Amino acid sequence: MAFSTDDLPDDAITARGLTKTYPASKTSPAKEALRGVDLSIPRGSIFGLLGPNGAGKSTFINILAGLVRKTSGEVKVWGLDIDQQPRSARAAIGVVPQEIAADFFFTPRESLEVQAGLYGVPRAERRSLEILNALGLGDKAEAYVRQLSGGMKRRLMVAKALVHNPPVLILDEPTAGVDVELRRQLWAYVRELNAAGVTIVLTTHYLEEAQELCDQIAIINRGQVVACEPTADLLKRLDSRAVIIQPLAPLTAAPRLQGFEAKLRPDGRLAITFKSDQASVEDVLNAVKAAGVGIKDLSTEEPDLEDVFLALTYNDPKAESPTAF
Ligand code: ADP
Repeated sequence: MAFSTDDLPDDAITARGLTKTYPASKTSPAKEALRGVDLSIPRGSIFGLLGPNGAGKSTFINILAGLVRKTSGEVKVWGLDIDQQPRSARAAIGVVPQEIAADFFFTPRESLEVQAGLYGVPRAERRSLEILNALGLGDKAEAYVRQLSGGMKRRLMVAKALVHNPPVLILDEPTAGVDVELRRQLWAYVRELNAAGVTIVLTTHYLEEAQELCDQIAIINRGQVVACEPTADLLKRLDSRAVIIQPLAPLTAAPRLQGFEAKLRPDGRLAITFKSDQASVEDVLNAVKAAGVGIKDLSTEEPDLEDVFLALTYNDPKAESPTAF
C-alpha cells in the first residue's frame, strides 16, 4: 500500500489518554500497563522510547501494531485512527521485533516475498531485491537463512518490516545483545532510512544508543510518560553526578541541605545529585557538613538512565514514589 505524499500528518503517531489493563489471570492480578499515555511522535524524527523493564514500552508498540487491544484512549498512526481505520493504520507501520524470528527454510528473497504477500503487496509493486540490497544483503538473496550470521539475520528482520513500504518503522530493542560493530552498522541503516523519509521509533535501554540516534526521547515509567523532549535538552539534565555518603551515624531521614536534594537509600547511604556545571563535590560536602551529618565514607557516581529517571520523577508531584529500575 502506498501512502500519499500530499497531506502529510505533522505527527507520525499520536496517543491521547492511552490506557491498557491486562486482565487478571489465575496466577496474577490485573495489571495496569499503560496509565494515560499522551505522546506525539513527530513525522520524520528518530524517536526514542526509553524506560525500565516493565514500563509499558512493548505494550505501547503492540497496540500500535494491532497485536494488543487498548483499554481506552485514542491512537493515530500516520493520522489514521486505529479503531476507525485499523487496516490502514497497521499498514502504515513496520515493526522489527526484539526476537529474531527467521523463516529458516526460505531464502531471504523468498522470506520477503512471503511477507509482502501477507501485506497484500501486488507482485508488480514488490521490491524484495531492492530492499535486500539497501540492507547489504543483496548477495545473500538466495542463501538459506540458517547460513546467515546473526547480524545478517537482524538486517533481514529490518528488511521484512519494510516490504510494504511503511512510512513509520518501529524497532524494538534492535541492538540488545549485539556487538559494537553490528550496532554501528544498524545505526547507519536506521539513519539512511530516516534520511529517505521514514519516521523511526526505537525502544532501547541503552542510553548511548538513544543519545547517538534519536532527536527526541520519551521516558516512560510504570505506564506513564515522565519526560518527552529533544535529546539535547534531556542530556542537559544528564549533566549531573551524585555523591554517595556513608554517614557516621545512621540517619532516619534525608537531611535538608542548602541548595541540594538529598535522598536516603534503603542501604542507609545518602545520595546527593548535582549538576556538574553548577556545583562541585566540595560544595556538596560543605552542605552535608553544614547540616551536621558526619561522613564515614564517600564515593561518586556518574549518571545513568536510572539517575535521569530518578531526577525526572523526583520533583514530579504525580509520581507515587521514585522507584529504581
Ligand atoms: P516493557 O516493554 O517496557 O518492558 P511491557 O509493556 O512488556 O513493558 O510490560 C508492562 C507491564 O505489563 C509489566 O508489568 C508486564 O508484566 C505487564 N504485561 C505485559 N504483557 C502482559 C500480558 N500479556 N499479560 C499480563 N501482563 C502483561
